[in-house]
Amino acid sequence: MNSPDRHFEPATQTADRLVYASTWETAGRVWPSNERQLLTCCRVTDETHDVKTFEFRTGDGLPVRFEPGQFLTISAVVGEQSVERCYTISSPPTRPFLVSITVKRVPGGVMSNWLHDNMVVGKTLDAYGPSGSFTPTDWHAPKYLYLSAGSGVTPLMSMTRSSVDLGQDRDIVFVHSARTPADIVFRDELHRLARQSPNLRRFFVCEGVGDEPDWSGGTGRLSLELLSKWVPDYLEREVFTCGPAGYMSAVRALLREGGHNPERYHQESFDITEGVAPAPVIADAPANAPQTSFTVKLSRTSRSFTMSGSETVLSAAKKAGIKIASSCSQGVCGTCKTKVLEGAVDMHHNGGIRDREVQKGFRLLCCSKPTSDLVLDL
Ligand SMILES: Cc1cc2nc3c(=O)[nH]c(=O)nc-3n(C[C@H](O)[C@H](O)[C@H](O)COP(=O)(O)OP(=O)(O)OC[C@H]3O[C@@H](n4cnc5c(N)ncnc54)[C@H](O)[C@@H]3O)c2cc1C
Repeated sequence: MNSPDRHFEPATQTADRLVYASTWETAGRVWPSNERQLLTCCRVTDETHDVKTFEFRTGDGLPVRFEPGQFLTISAVVGEQSVERCYTISSPPTRPFLVSITVKRVPGGVMSNWLHDNMVVGKTLDAYGPSGSFTPTDWHAPKYLYLSAGSGVTPLMSMTRSSVDLGQDRDIVFVHSARTPADIVFRDELHRLARQSPNLRRFFVCEGVGDEPDWSGGTGRLSLELLSKWVPDYLEREVFTCGPAGYMSAVRALLREGGHNPERYHQESFDITEGVAPAPVIADAPANAPQTSFTVKLSRTSRSFTMSGSETVLSAAKKAGIKIASSCSQGVCGTCKTKVLEGAVDMHHNGGIRDREVQKGFRLLCCSKPTSDLVLDL
């Protein structure tokens, strides 16, 4: 991977970093991704016929610090069962007193339908703090291309709103795909933001025109031809993509065909079974003597359990009756990120942890198997 700073002239880079650092690192308090807190719903907005935005105030009322593109893990009791799902914070970190999630109703889906049918002003739910590395903070570039489809618009919307709020007037081209014009989430707002920010351009492409026979945007699916017409300099842009798995693989293929540098391509998958390109296994120093059974101690609660080296720490903890915040179980969402104070694991994650967190001793317990006895910061 290239250095995150590679595209900037030194002076611009320093100024830009300062803006980023001063914004995200001072706006609000740190809410750790493994800390649960109560959120109170204070506004619900119908975005389209099957998408709603829910705005929440935190339990302590304090502003929340996060990076544009990060997500929360929402926890709710649906029926008799505790259910946890990840939702991107669609609001920008520049408005840290409320956090919004924008949720598409998934046919037969547990959490999305529960939120749509039950979450009203004044109602509360639990959430774990911001997580995720799908954010431009580490990938400063002079020009961006945001590609989204369906509810995948949410992280890119947080990035765009942040940029406009900061008066940065970044060179962003936002290309959003939807089934019909009526399905375009944040359509009016994107038009308004583009009027406020001359370097922000937006294009919509719809599979069909639906109830808008005079639709003047693109029709069909995003193609290399359409992309080249709307964004002739797309090869020069840092690309951020979010949408259904099929959409993202089509986008990757057309960018590859057009000659876009894959190192300047970043994506977030909402489909945790799909995942992202697996990162290499991160193996701590192996234990000296071969061992098959390990003891795991939790330093804060003084609890402990034994486990075999063939299972993940998260699943062994669950079997031992120890509840650890988690969601995807695939090394994607980062909810179970925990500091390993002593001992070693083999971790096979799917992008849910950053290199700098690994260097600080954090591991994702859902995809980590012990290679020695462990002491965890739990
Ligand atoms: C990092 C991240 C960020 C995300 N951000 C957003 C966002 O901003 N907005 C958004 O709308 N979504 C987002 N998602 C997706 C979200 O987390 C949920 O996956 C989505 O809302 C569906 O959850 P659900 O509980 O409604 O559906 P689920 O209950 O998980 O069901 C999903 C599908 O599987 C089917 N299904 C469920 N159980 C079974 C079964 N036993 N057998 C067969 N089929 C079954 C359902 O019918 C449904 O079609 C994000 C996901 C991730 C990982």
